[in-house]
Amino acid sequence: MKIICIGRNYTEHIKELANERPTEPVVFLKPDSAILLKKQPFYIPDFSNDVHHEVEILVRISKVGKYIDKKFAHKYYDKIGLGIDFTARDLQQKLKEKGLPWEKAKAFDGAAVVGEWLPKSDFESVDAINFGLERNGVLVQQGNTSHMLWKIDELIEYVSKYFTLKIGDIIFTGTPSGVAKVEANDELRGLIENNEMFKLTIK
Ligand code: ZN
Repeated sequence: MKIICIGRNYTEHIKELANERPTEPVVFLKPDSAILLKKQPFYIPDFSNDVHHEVEILVRISKVGKYIDKKFAHKYYDKIGLGIDFTARDLQQKLKEKGLPWEKAKAFDGAAVVGEWLPKSDFESVDAINFGLERNGVLVQQGNTSHMLWKIDELIEYVSKYFTLKIGDIIFTGTPSGVAKVEANDELRGLIENNEMFKLTIK
């Protein structure tokens, strides 16, 4: 399986990192080895002093597809989840300045937290989902999928032009504002509406 990630999909987050507003979705991949094993802590890697949490809505692909029209995109996923796109911001900044790929900053072991899944049918609309991240009991990120620059079905149309989507692939749909550095002993808890989707400790 592969993990397809979308960057800069919420205006407020683009502003907080002083990035340019993209004219097309920003896309990058994480390998399956980036998935943090269930119930395991996240270990801050020794190559970074500035790992940020980015809470994101996840979409699980349930049907093989390529060149999917956004009208039919809803047939290609069956589950909605929540995860974290951990990012070594200091390393990413260096790579960005040199125009190099971001993989070392985004695709390292443990950099993809994949929480529990909810059936898509639980949601009246996937374009109006509230989600958030608590750090040590304090809400630090909150978002609603209605604020995405590109909505889920549009993202599926876009990424399937480049990559065949396969069953079990996961799309990370981008983070809202509020990204920040994690510290050892932090407890992170992800929520969709009032459902706890994941909980983990930083080491
Ligand atoms: Zn992200």
